[in-house]
Amino acid sequence: MSTMPPAGSLLSATGLHKTYGSTAALDGADFSIHPGEVVAVMGPSGSGKSTLLHCLAGIVPPDSGTITYAGRELSAMNDAERSALRRGEFGFVFQFGQLVPELTCVENVALPLRLTGVKRRQAERTALEWMARLEVAEIGRKRPGEVSGGQGQRVAVARALVTGPRVLFADEPTGALDSLNGELVMQLLTEATRSANAAVVLVTHETRVAAYSDREIVVRDGRSRDMERAV
Ligand code: ADP
Repeated sequence: MSTMPPAGSLLSATGLHKTYGSTAALDGADFSIHPGEVVAVMGPSGSGKSTLLHCLAGIVPPDSGTITYAGRELSAMNDAERSALRRGEFGFVFQFGQLVPELTCVENVALPLRLTGVKRRQAERTALEWMARLEVAEIGRKRPGEVSGGQGQRVAVARALVTGPRVLFADEPTGALDSLNGELVMQLLTEATRSANAAVVLVTHETRVAAYSDREIVVRDGRSRDMERAV
């Protein structure tokens, strides 16, 4: 098997293996995504989807295999290089938005900019622009505990995109929402990321959520395969 990344891909992986004790979470998984593409990673619970996402995002180092991001071998970077890459180039949304409860929604969205040294007024102005795209600008002064689950997830998406990442990693981003709110989050998430030309690695076990992607990859027993979508 070739270890060259597929032509034009932004982020790719070949032959990923990751073992926890006697469990092979990844057993030769491959992956690739182009700039601006939305790829759904599907498969049953325990099949290795989250492990794949964590490896691709540089959070968990694989035992073996190669991960390439924008021509650089992510799997060969040290911790400091990988965390610089995560801060600068990647955004994250998880099942529960993980907003800071003490901060208002706009302060939450502005936080990644504040951490890179952007002044409060400028950071909050940019934060509000992203919140407007996610249709949650009106709840800017509320705290996460005072908004609905769907609104909180849209705030979390705004926070993930505020620094202009090239890749958004979303692990079951609608998993805690009812179907109507899940659809709205997916619609706004894909609109916002497409307008920013950011790629999305979307882990989900729901066909309805995967339908928002351009392409689907199915993971089974730690191995991945591309699906031809029946349209
Ligand atoms: P999925 O996201 O498809 O549900 P995961 O990637 O979370 O699958 O898990 C794949 C397998 O690896 C499972 O058997 C899970 O129990 C195991 N696993 C994942 N992370 C860990 C960990 N940190 N420690 C031990 N086992 C793990």
